[in-house]
Amino acid sequence: MKHLPFEDWLLLGESALTPSQHRALAEHLQECLQCQMLQMGLGEVEDLFRESGLHDPAPGFVERWQARAQQDRLVRQQWRYRWQVGIMLIVILNAVVGLAVFLGGQLFSVFDSWVDVVALAVYRIFALFFALGEMRGLFAVIWRILGGLVPPERWALLFLALGLGSLLWVGWLAHLIKLPRRVGS
Ligand SMILES: [Zn+2]
Repeated sequence: MKHLPFEDWLLLGESALTPSQHRALAEHLQECLQCQMLQMGLGEVEDLFRESGLHDPAPGFVERWQARAQQDRLVRQQWRYRWQVGIMLIVILNAVVGLAVFLGGQLFSVFDSWVDVVALAVYRIFALFFALGEMRGLFAVIWRILGGLVPPERWALLFLALGLGSLLWVGWLAHLIKLPRRVGS
């Protein structure tokens, strides 16, 4: 037995049918158990919706909701973008100020005398090497302590996670930097 037009008609609802379709459906239902079951099931579902007080959303609700969600997402992304740019600016500003102070100090000493400058440079280089050596020693100590606590395979996992994390962050940042241009166009 063919059910195809009748199943579709049942799903459409009887109000959507022409009188001749209505008659044909009624005739088919009298002799088809499968379509009777479908009709009954659909009726139960409709009752359930009526009883639960669920209504169809107001016209345009889905579109409004999507527009609203899209707008929210944009505002959040722009806010995060500004926040990250702000942090980057602070870091860059710190570096610039630090460099300016460092270079400014050197520039002043240039006017004093060449001997002082050379002595200062040599002293700085030695100090730098000393500090690096100290730091290396410090790192070695930390490394030994942490290395004893964390097994080697965990370290590999940690570095992998760190690498992936920074990669994701860079990608995210690149995406955010591209975003305002795309929205603006
Ligand atoms: Zn049928």
